Amino acid sequence: MNIALIAHDSKKELMVQFCIAYCGILSKHRLCATGTTGKQVSEATGLSIQCYLSGSQGGDQQIAARISCNEIDLLMFFRDPISAKPHEPSEANLLRLCDVHDIPVATNLATAEALIHALERGDLDWRDIVNPTNH
Ligand code: PGA
Repeated sequence: MNIALIAHDSKKELMVQFCIAYCGILSKHRLCATGTTGKQVSEATGLSIQCYLSGSQGGDQQIAARISCNEIDLLMFFRDPISAKPHEPSEANLLRLCDVHDIPVATNLATAEALIHALERGDLDWRDIVNPTNH
């Protein structure tokens, strides 16, 4: 599966801790991320991550383009619902595209944990069937 990671600044530590906790599962998949999120997670976990530009430079739009091309199977976007900064990626477009392409998306830790367990159990394997680019 192709998994994309994005975390607003105030949620980056949470994303790092999440990826440390589930490193074993995540390591079986292809990961990509916005620049700073990906750098922090790969440094903390050793996971191999394709890092796009930082969010402020359009990295979220690079991920959005991959979602549009049906190349992303799961999006973990830990957003800050209280105090996101103006330059941080807006969720509206990303979430809309996930709905267009029926892509599972987590915007908080509780949903991310539910999805990662589903991923481990193989509940999301149907995406491999509808998305031949995974093979
Ligand atoms: P970043 O992008 O991972 O490069 O910081 C996300 C954001 O700007 O919040």
